[in-house]
Amino acid sequence: MSECMIRMRNIHKSFHNLNVLKGIDLEVKRGQVVAIIGPSGSGKSTLLRCLNRLETIDKGYIEVEGDLLAEDGKYVEEKKARQICAKMGMVFQQFNLFPHMTVMENLIEAPVHVKGMKLQEIIPVAENLLEKVGLSEKKDSYPSRLSGGQKQRVAIARALAMSPDIMLFDEPTSALDPELTGEVLKTMRQLAEEKMTMIIVTHEMAFAREVASHVIFMADGDIVEQGSPEEFFANPRQVRTQAFLKSML
Ligand code: ADP
Ligand code: MG
Repeated sequence: MSECMIRMRNIHKSFHNLNVLKGIDLEVKRGQVVAIIGPSGSGKSTLLRCLNRLETIDKGYIEVEGDLLAEDGKYVEEKKARQICAKMGMVFQQFNLFPHMTVMENLIEAPVHVKGMKLQEIIPVAENLLEKVGLSEKKDSYPSRLSGGQKQRVAIARALAMSPDIMLFDEPTSALDPELTGEVLKTMRQLAEEKMTMIIVTHEMAFAREVASHVIFMADGDIVEQGSPEEFFANPRQVRTQAFLKSML
């Protein structure tokens, strides 16, 4: 239970002369749900993107499940890095489904083309995942025929189809109408109950309070404050945290 799944140390990242991450340290243990909150522009997305190599870091150390991913700002060689990052599934604010593929095709694409799985292996897995997110009857639909909440649940199922050990969520409900956020949060809550290791960037404070095992508040490229959801929300110590939480009410 205490196995370290992610270890990020002294992560620095700039875009031109904009310092976006200023020495972030982050540790996530197996089964933990870490919620990252903070104002827009504080570097939350960049942190997740550096973790799965959608962005590169300038400085720092990253380890995933005991495997070195980056050291002194340099990622390990391509093939190894890709293997390591394949253990992390990512869900974006904008769903990013393949529009020209059905729901089922979206789910089986990466398992077949990246992992080389056979259709007879992956189709039952995909069917189970669609049942789990409550979308079995949509398997032959195209994304354009789905609601935002349904699209996001397909995106979650698609990430799970690669059997990740860690799930990264970047504001998964921010693009949804309020009445559709509940169904997506329910799916994520279910994953948390199954002890999936997760990092969730979110503006849903009630959800973070209820589901997270650890809460991190970022501002201006730094971790300003962190703690258990109980202590963090009931008794924020930093003025910036207090002001942010107040603004979220
Ligand atoms: P958050 O997710 O907390 O809103 P981001 O990580 O998206 O913050 O962005 C942090 C800062 O980095 C912002 O000022 C943003 O404009 C900038 N930024 C993010 N990505 C890029 C990029 N690819 N090129 C230049 N600036 C970027
Ligand atoms: Mg963001």
